[in-house]
Amino acid sequence: MMKYFFSLLFIFLLVFKGCSPDKQHTIIGAKIYKHSGPYPLLFEQWNQLGINTGFCSQDLISDSEFMKEAMEHQISTFVIFPVFFNPEALAEEPDLAAINRNGEVAAEEWVEFVCPSREAYRQQVVAHARSIVRDHQPDGISIDFIRHFVYWEKVYPDRDPASLPVSCFDSVCLNHFQHETDISIPDELSGIPEKADWILNEHGDAWTTWHCQLITSMAKEIAEAAREEKPDILVNIHLVPWAKEDFNGAIQKVAGQDIRALSEFSDYLSPMTYAHMVKQAPSWVHHIVEDIYMQTGGAILPSIQVGKAYLKTEFDLEEFRQTLEAALEAPSSGVVIWSWERLLAEPAKVDLFKDIVTAH
Ligand SMILES: [Zn+2]
Repeated sequence: MMKYFFSLLFIFLLVFKGCSPDKQHTIIGAKIYKHSGPYPLLFEQWNQLGINTGFCSQDLISDSEFMKEAMEHQISTFVIFPVFFNPEALAEEPDLAAINRNGEVAAEEWVEFVCPSREAYRQQVVAHARSIVRDHQPDGISIDFIRHFVYWEKVYPDRDPASLPVSCFDSVCLNHFQHETDISIPDELSGIPEKADWILNEHGDAWTTWHCQLITSMAKEIAEAAREEKPDILVNIHLVPWAKEDFNGAIQKVAGQDIRALSEFSDYLSPMTYAHMVKQAPSWVHHIVEDIYMQTGGAILPSIQVGKAYLKTEFDLEEFRQTLEAALEAPSSGVVIWSWERLLAEPAKVDLFKDIVTAH
């Protein structure tokens, strides 16, 4: 009899656990960069709309009034933490710039990146993450621009993969690559274009593995430092929104994001699935979430755009509705809108957002 009792109890616990509300809850997030109005009103509005998490600029996270009000309104706070995109550092020290395979500074419009091999820069970044977490105690850190140079916002489905930029080929990276892989660039090759071509043609896989590791190790060092300061901090990593096989494996070959490796020490992976911007249908958001989930089995938090960006084509209410619904489809762990400012600018989208989120 006792045996049956325990079996029943076991089954009950299993079922109960499966339905437990403390199972990872759905994140309904908003990226927010600036806010001029009173914070209580902002967070009351978020409470009404079902937004439970802010992905916030460092300015807002550093504002104790913002943090206090967020906590009082039960809003979780993640600090958005950019890593290799740093125009200030590059303006001060242009030599830090990542170099493309033609030997030029890797830059396009506003997009420019720091070479990911610079030890002093990497240490500064880790120290900065540590101090933000220690001083302001956010609930999470959302690691952004944790990748190699690529202006993915303007990479459309018909893009020739061979035209995508690969970096970084400055002397620091070339030296580290040779040292860490035991591959020696032949002496007769002079100039960065020749060396880069030789590496990519003769040792492409070794290069991809090595340049992904630069990104993985940086993200891991930031996550570890954050957890040393606040053991229960949540770690989110922003991803370029490419499926494993898209553009001939560009997520690794170009962006340097080894999604499975990144998932091992993070709590969430957040692809920037701005479908309209990259000329994809709303259902593509779900396709990307599924693809990343198949690779990692982890929690995926797609970020979606609210307003027009880069393209002049209309991003209407119906397209927004379909995009939001696709983002929330299982196995997604929720959604993050980019951005709060853009949502507020379109009251009809605010109402629609509320209807969909509260019904979810
Ligand atoms: Zn470099």
